[in-house]
Amino acid sequence: MEIGKPQIGVLAVQGAFIEHERILKSLGAEVFEIRQLRDLDRHLDGLVLPGGESTVQGKLLRDLGLFEPLRKKIAEGLPVLATCAGAILLAEKIAGESRTHFATLPAIIRRNAYGRQLGSFFTENEVAHVGIVPQTFIRAPFFESVGNEVEVLSRTASSNTTDAPERIVAVRFRNQIALSFHPELNSDTSIHRYFLGLAER
Ligand code: GLN
Repeated sequence: MEIGKPQIGVLAVQGAFIEHERILKSLGAEVFEIRQLRDLDRHLDGLVLPGGESTVQGKLLRDLGLFEPLRKKIAEGLPVLATCAGAILLAEKIAGESRTHFATLPAIIRRNAYGRQLGSFFTENEVAHVGIVPQTFIRAPFFESVGNEVEVLSRTASSNTTDAPERIVAVRFRNQIALSFHPELNSDTSIHRYFLGLAER
């Protein structure tokens, strides 16, 4: 372990984790993959929950015995950057479904919320504390509502239609940053820098 570098664990059981690793390494973090329980023996300054398929990730987390130890670390304040499926894992409630996963983020999220046609789109929009960032949505969820203590970081309308309503697509609750979109799929690194700022404290 190198002194002074934040140690970031990236959940790597399914989905788009490689892209997060590449960006975090380019920003000077020490990155390792979390695939099994013994990967949690290492010191962690921050955790990335990548996009992918939340139902698959939720099942694998439980099957691998990672679920409860990770839930506890998040609940106890470990900085987390969750994108898309990762945000679904964090939400306290998934609209229209009875199951939840970590449920550490007081918010209601809706999966595949833009419908079939609008599920995937690209736009650029303001994220509080970060600035204007590219936002790539892939069969994306959005937040239907958030708890009082949750800070809304970004509201975005899907660019495909002119009268599309603005939806909550980025939030922060204490140690948890959750995004509907995929910041790791563009060259902009400002969201990851914001996250590393939390992990370095
Ligand atoms: N639609 C996926 C889900 O429900 C999320 C998509 C993504 O992570 N890009 O889990």
